[in-house]
Amino acid sequence: MDVTVIADSTDDGLTPVTAQLVGAATSIGGNPTVLCPGGVGASEAASISGVSKVISVEGDCFGTYEGGAWATALDSQATGDLVLAAASPRGRDIAASLAALRKIPIIQDATGLEVGLVVSRPIYSGKAMETSNVEGPCVITLRANAFDAAPDGGTSEVSTVNQSADVGLAVKEAIAKASERLDVTEADIIISGGRGMGEPSNFSHLNEVADMIGAAVGASRAAVDTWEEIPHSMQVGQTGKTVTPSLYIAVGISGAIQHLAGMKTSKYIVAINKDPDAPIFGVADYGIVATWEDALPALKTELAKL
Ligand SMILES: Cc1cc2nc3c(=O)[nH]c(=O)nc-3n(C[C@H](O)[C@H](O)[C@H](O)COP(=O)(O)OP(=O)(O)OC[C@H]3O[C@@H](n4cnc5c(N)ncnc54)[C@H](O)[C@@H]3O)c2cc1C
Repeated sequence: MDVTVIADSTDDGLTPVTAQLVGAATSIGGNPTVLCPGGVGASEAASISGVSKVISVEGDCFGTYEGGAWATALDSQATGDLVLAAASPRGRDIAASLAALRKIPIIQDATGLEVGLVVSRPIYSGKAMETSNVEGPCVITLRANAFDAAPDGGTSEVSTVNQSADVGLAVKEAIAKASERLDVTEADIIISGGRGMGEPSNFSHLNEVADMIGAAVGASRAAVDTWEEIPHSMQVGQTGKTVTPSLYIAVGISGAIQHLAGMKTSKYIVAINKDPDAPIFGVADYGIVATWEDALPALKTELAKL
């Protein structure tokens, strides 16, 4: 089965999700062609094992981001019946535009893919799983870190096409990210703080731990709503970002259902909370009943020894 993978990238190159999309495609016997919008990360994509070919799709429209224009430019190169993209904000947007252009179904935020094609994804804030049997062409976005990445070692060819598309809506200026820190959706380790951090300046303790272990810093909605210093881009949960890191450390977060909806599929969850009855302990693999004032210095000391 021919599968088109739309590479997920930032200005710095491919995000780790692209190799996960390729891994998911090959796990169901697919033959993936990777499209690199704007040519970003084409040589990186060629070195992913299992990639059949890479198409660097270039054109005027890739100067600024506009989902409809990008999807139009990618459309003619997406030859497979199955198109996979990342369930990132941009990936979802391009996928939806592409599905609309082709008048084919879309499944967003899948966490499981089986031969057949059987697709599963969490619904109702993660309270239930939906399973769909897909027949015919379809676009599917996959949640980051839910699939094993294909390893390095590929040597596929890279071809370049110029595919300018009409830009119906032009983006004049993209406002720089509020923070230069790693985004929670890209991170394999996340340490998040809640209202229990007491005040926003205490997030510096989370930043210190994050710097030691290469983690991103997230937050609960109570934290971002209460303190303007904590940007909404850090919010994890039902109305924030959905994350599936290998390790999620929740500090001073009670574990409301809306927060759990965004992080409970993390592989390992560690909770630090002074209240032994906090609901977060219900999903935690490791729970530390303590104040963060006691627990974080001890954690930093142990990490420094590693
Ligand atoms: C429609 C809707 C959507 C929502 N979407 C989201 C969402 O996307 N994400 C989200 O997070 N929430 C969301 N919420 C809000 C959610 O219901 C909770 O209000 C919120 O998650 C609570 O945040 P919190 O755990 O930081 O704060 P709190 O519930 O106030 O919990 C603070 C915790 O910190 C602990 N604590 C206090 N001091 C310390 C200390 N010194 N050391 C250690 N622990 C300490 C306390 O024991 C407590 O458990 C949503 C709500 C609604 C209605």
